[in-house]
Amino acid sequence: MAETAEKIVTCPMCGARSTVNIPVSVNTVRDPEVRDRIMDETFFLWKCRKCGMNSKMLHPLLYSDVDRKFMVYYIPKVSRSQICDEKLENEFSDLADVRRRVVDSINAMKEKIVIFENSYSDMAVELSKLAVAEVVSKITGQTVYEGYCTEINKTQNQITFQFFLGANHRSYIHTTRYDVYNRSLSIVKECFQDVEKKRGFLNINQNWASEALRRYKGYE
Ligand SMILES: [Zn+2]
Repeated sequence: MAETAEKIVTCPMCGARSTVNIPVSVNTVRDPEVRDRIMDETFFLWKCRKCGMNSKMLHPLLYSDVDRKFMVYYIPKVSRSQICDEKLENEFSDLADVRRRVVDSINAMKEKIVIFENSYSDMAVELSKLAVAEVVSKITGQTVYEGYCTEINKTQNQITFQFFLGANHRSYIHTTRYDVYNRSLSIVKECFQDVEKKRGFLNINQNWASEALRRYKGYE
């Protein structure tokens, strides 16, 4: 079972307080069904025993896929670019070849799972997203609030993103050629190979991509 911590939760509907065991760490080997529940977001649903109201309960969660060697640490609204957890580093001495990421949203967590399960580079995906977001912004005339890669299909030469546009965060799906990813991957291989050697959990997101692209253009 997942590692849990006790927490007192107040129902947003009826105000009833109850003690809940919140999962703090899950492992896909021990809890294989958890992966699908995270992907369909039922994992974060909590039901009030008094009034039956379902609400989403967001809490930090460490997701480990030992077989595919990656860990995603979800910390709601985290803004730091790197989280070093000494306890974890000491606990797993062989973490060096495990990709470790920290993410600030469930969508970002799902995106990392899709990317790493299929052995893609999230740095290349973020660089691709930056380029595609610019195109989407031009096509729609709206600002891109955020976006997530939902599918990469090398054989069909496709990469798909879901963007959220404008003030009301309208969902917009955009599929483009896989070549965009390939170009980004060559930039990562040329300039950002050593990023993976950093300690702790890295926040590889659009901020990282903007900064990386600025540095890359400086190299040229
Ligand atoms: Zn309730």
